[in-house]
Amino acid sequence: MSKLLTDLIEALRCLPGVGGKSAQRMAFHLLERDRERGLRLAQALDEAMRQIGNCSRCRNFSETPVCTLCASPGRDRQVLCVVESPTELAAIEQATGYRGQYFVLLGRLSPLDGLGPQELGLDLLAERLGEGEIEEMIIATNPTVEGEATAHYLAQLARAANVKPTRLAHGVPLGGELEYVDRGTLAHAFGSRQSVD
Ligand SMILES: [Zn+2]
Repeated sequence: MSKLLTDLIEALRCLPGVGGKSAQRMAFHLLERDRERGLRLAQALDEAMRQIGNCSRCRNFSETPVCTLCASPGRDRQVLCVVESPTELAAIEQATGYRGQYFVLLGRLSPLDGLGPQELGLDLLAERLGEGEIEEMIIATNPTVEGEATAHYLAQLARAANVKPTRLAHGVPLGGELEYVDRGTLAHAFGSRQSVD
């Protein structure tokens, strides 16, 4: 196989879920019948990789120093939702009517992987909390061991700045039956039960 083709297949394998066979199929497909779109893909990739950085306020992807969401005058400045990744920010934006601000950790506390408060931008977060505008900080880290540890740390950070920390309820899925919910989820839902008005 030609060197360029081998290089292309190898490069495509960096995508999540793409193994050798799929990468080869993609490469052949583009070369055989879609060169124009292949070139467009290459250009879009090149531009995105070079020009998309991180917002200086929320750390979400942005090609401007401050992202459109942070710059939007229509967003509630009293509420800040902290998520682990841009994927989760997008999910919350699409699924809920949330109109507040965000902060993206780009990871979770994981000392073994070298991810500490510094890497998660927690100094930047503390600075934002210290501005005095934010009243509630919604902690939306994942319900994993590391996510929970991160949540605990974040809650302390909020309290130190006189900001009320809240957490997403992790519970029984809508329409689910207790019998079929996994133990961890059930234990969490039980532990974070709420009073009924
Ligand atoms: Zn931003």
